[in-house]
Amino acid sequence: MPRRITVLLLILLLVSALGACSLKPDPPVEVPSGNGDGVVVPVPKPPKPPTTPDTTYIGEDGKVMVSDVDSILVLVNKRRNLPPTYVPQDLVRVAVPFPFEGDQPRMYLRQEAARALEELFAAALSAGIELYATSGYRSYETQQAIFAANVAKAGEEEANKTSARPGQSEHQTGLAMDVTSPSVRYRLVESFGSTPEGVWLEENAHLYGFIVRYPQGKEHITGYSYEPWHVRFVGKDAATLIFSRGLTLEDYILYGN
Ligand SMILES: [Zn+2]
Repeated sequence: MPRRITVLLLILLLVSALGACSLKPDPPVEVPSGNGDGVVVPVPKPPKPPTTPDTTYIGEDGKVMVSDVDSILVLVNKRRNLPPTYVPQDLVRVAVPFPFEGDQPRMYLRQEAARALEELFAAALSAGIELYATSGYRSYETQQAIFAANVAKAGEEEANKTSARPGQSEHQTGLAMDVTSPSVRYRLVESFGSTPEGVWLEENAHLYGFIVRYPQGKEHITGYSYEPWHVRFVGKDAATLIFSRGLTLEDYILYGN
């Protein structure tokens, strides 16, 4: 290659390199500083936490046992058992009318539930609704006797539909009460649900922290037939959400709905 051409090429290369160097650098990327200028900064959602911590363990006999026994949101059903030895430590006698006399364990509830039930009954009375309580706290041993009696009377399959096996009754939590009225002669019957008392109870229980625990049409979730008389204390927030969305306690606790 002639020397002159080589020099020319070198000059060309040099010029093009300088040209490249003189190009302006890209402008800095502007990072939006907030929402004040109308720019919406997408905030990534944190991962959803598990709906509930695991509140069960496997007992010695292979049964699923609940560990949060003292929680007002404890979930007890045909798949989740209370230990036979569990007795709530804050049981108090509920000051509401009972259709019987004396001092019996079934007149007791845990303190928070008892006070809330008293408020519920007072509100009912002001609305001209006459409610009676019939069955609150029940020990493991009493439930054992009730279930055995129901099996003897109607067979195990029938007994299983309406009465709980020992360890699987909400009454052992001290957070549930069976409610009735003179209009159904103080019985625990489905027709209570369509009496003015039953309707009032269903519509107002949540305002005092209670839910009708075994609603109509939810037997496949709760494991129990419709029981318009059985109310369970869960606190006002949970009760209001469960009521307004038509949920069961199972939905609320297990699926976080
Ligand atoms: Zn009950």
